[in-house]
Amino acid sequence: MEKQKISNFHTHTHLCHHATGKPIDYVRIAKEQGCSELGFSDHCPYPDLQEINWINCRMSVDQIEEYKNDILEAQKEADFKVHIGFECEYDRNYVSWYRDELKGHYGAEYLVFGPHWATYGDIHPYAPEFKHDKKLLALYTDQVVEGIGSGLYSILAHPDLFMSGWHEWDDEAKACLTAILNAAKDKDLPLEVNGLGIYRGYIETSRGPRLGYPYHEFWEMVAASGARVICDSDAHNPNDVISHARNSRNFAKEFGIVPIESIFS
Ligand SMILES: [Zn+2]
Ligand SMILES: [Zn+2]
Repeated sequence: MEKQKISNFHTHTHLCHHATGKPIDYVRIAKEQGCSELGFSDHCPYPDLQEINWINCRMSVDQIEEYKNDILEAQKEADFKVHIGFECEYDRNYVSWYRDELKGHYGAEYLVFGPHWATYGDIHPYAPEFKHDKKLLALYTDQVVEGIGSGLYSILAHPDLFMSGWHEWDDEAKACLTAILNAAKDKDLPLEVNGLGIYRGYIETSRGPRLGYPYHEFWEMVAASGARVICDSDAHNPNDVISHARNSRNFAKEFGIVPIESIFS
């Protein structure tokens, strides 16, 4: 039996230096694996590269045209809609960059909010490496909630990413994910079940092995809240583009969650 076609709005390309494949490679495999709609959301460039640990994982500004052209080229081979977007952090100093340049001038159809880091002065601690630093998690929470409130984004990627390094389901973790869930629900911003997290697999904790992220208890909360959910692959390899998005849907199904299939309808 032919598998049901599904969408994916979280897709990277070789331009970010830690993914492989061009848009055409993703489109070809998406077609084979059964795709209804595909969005590219490679890590966004920044107009200056002072952000030391943000540099090596993204394209440069002068590669945006190549990115767009490659996506337009790939669209020709697709029998489904293909969209251009970016995955961005949230830094209040770059709001006009995200809104007026990436969405305005460069014509991105959507932005994915990828809260990978806390911004702490000019350093950016990585969310899975907070090492149970409660102050850092509180700062991160405030920044993610502010980012959600900015209205810039169409998807909140891997909201529970930090849980891959925060092994306890303690008051701080609960407070963080409750605040993020409430903010997303207020804005009607879809929360993403991330297929890359499922692929990365299990970690050891004092309560035994569990997925680093998506984090089981959080998705129980999401299911109970009735917030909107989207299931994406976060593909960094063409082979994963739809298969990982199917894994996300299977995960959501365990909680009785019915994900949205498009951010454009
Ligand atoms: Zn990436
Ligand atoms: Zn991503």
